[in-house]
Amino acid sequence: MRYVQTDTQSDPLSGTHPSTEKQKTLSQLLAAELQAMGINDAHMDAWGYVYATIPSNTPKAVPALCFCSHVDTAPDASGTGVKPILHKAYNGGAIPLPDDPTQVLTPDTHGYLKKLIGHDLITASGTTLLGADDKAGVAEIMDAAHFLMTHPHVKHGAIKILFTPDEEIGQGTANVDLQKLGAQFGYTLDGGEAGSLEDETFSADAVQLIIHGVITHPGYAKGLLVNAIKIGGQILASLPKSEMSPETTDGMQGFIHPVRVDGIAERCTIDFIIRDFVTEGLKKKEDLLRGIVDLVMEQHPKASYEFRVTEQYRNMKEVLDQHPQVVQYAREAIARSGLEVKTESIRGGTDGSRLSFMGLPCPNLFTGMQAIHSKQEYISVQDMNKAVETVVHLAAIWEEKAPA
Ligand SMILES: [Zn+2]
Repeated sequence: MRYVQTDTQSDPLSGTHPSTEKQKTLSQLLAAELQAMGINDAHMDAWGYVYATIPSNTPKAVPALCFCSHVDTAPDASGTGVKPILHKAYNGGAIPLPDDPTQVLTPDTHGYLKKLIGHDLITASGTTLLGADDKAGVAEIMDAAHFLMTHPHVKHGAIKILFTPDEEIGQGTANVDLQKLGAQFGYTLDGGEAGSLEDETFSADAVQLIIHGVITHPGYAKGLLVNAIKIGGQILASLPKSEMSPETTDGMQGFIHPVRVDGIAERCTIDFIIRDFVTEGLKKKEDLLRGIVDLVMEQHPKASYEFRVTEQYRNMKEVLDQHPQVVQYAREAIARSGLEVKTESIRGGTDGSRLSFMGLPCPNLFTGMQAIHSKQEYISVQDMNKAVETVVHLAAIWEEKAPA
């Protein structure tokens, strides 16, 4: 509740690293609190990343593990002046938020609430998001660190703590120094429902289509002018309508999604995002899009186009499958915390997908956060405690499994 009162909203338009200076306020506080726990190397770097090491307390050779969360909150709703409210022993009814009478949490709109009767819940007050995404993960890692530092009988290898800025704007790993971090395997705490474990994300590419028309004075354009905006419109109208779009897919299906159009008669740019769980599937969707573009362009021989594909991130499962113990031990830790394990696929990306491909295999653990990026964001204190337990069990399991 203390951490969410520091505004750490990131800004996709800023262009600086971190995107907002205010994120450093929380990062600095976290580094100081880790120091106060006796974690001597805890510090924040110039980019706003916090690094810290809980030293190994076992003679065994245990791989160094990283636990990672992001300090920033999403630009989707205000993060200024967050007033967290603790609702003790939830009774199953509606929860009105005091600062805006239109903001009411109900079990009908938030089905997970039905599982939380008797829990202590935290919400915001109605005018801001809560910021449980991802300060829940931050708080849980801080609590687990405190537990490990004060309970030396729990044996573990080196535990690396990493707090990142700018995850919400896709820049969370932009300036991370994995060499310095020195971990072999990692876990992000950035998931939802208690017990959930995410080991699979989309693979993602961006496609930029630039259409070059032919421009003349419109009064004397007969037979000469080719309008790039109109070609762009024709291409958009030719995209699949009943499939392969975000609005027509779920589960394991991918999509082609135009996200931005910018044009003048002479030149029209369309940005697409392409998503699929299988990297080959991305290629197929890109080929399909290119085919549509070719078909339309054939009707406009004087116009030309550029088709630029940029890799965004890849399904972390491709990496995690090479290190099955990372997910297997996570399942075991969740089960030891008394929860049912729910393995899930993320229809999006996480810092974990990027970290996995940068050399730190990194599935995503639950934190308890719900209704994220909204004014109705909430979290159960009991779920948060389960996440802390899971982290502590994970540290212990890696030590148990290491050869003596
Ligand atoms: Zn998050």
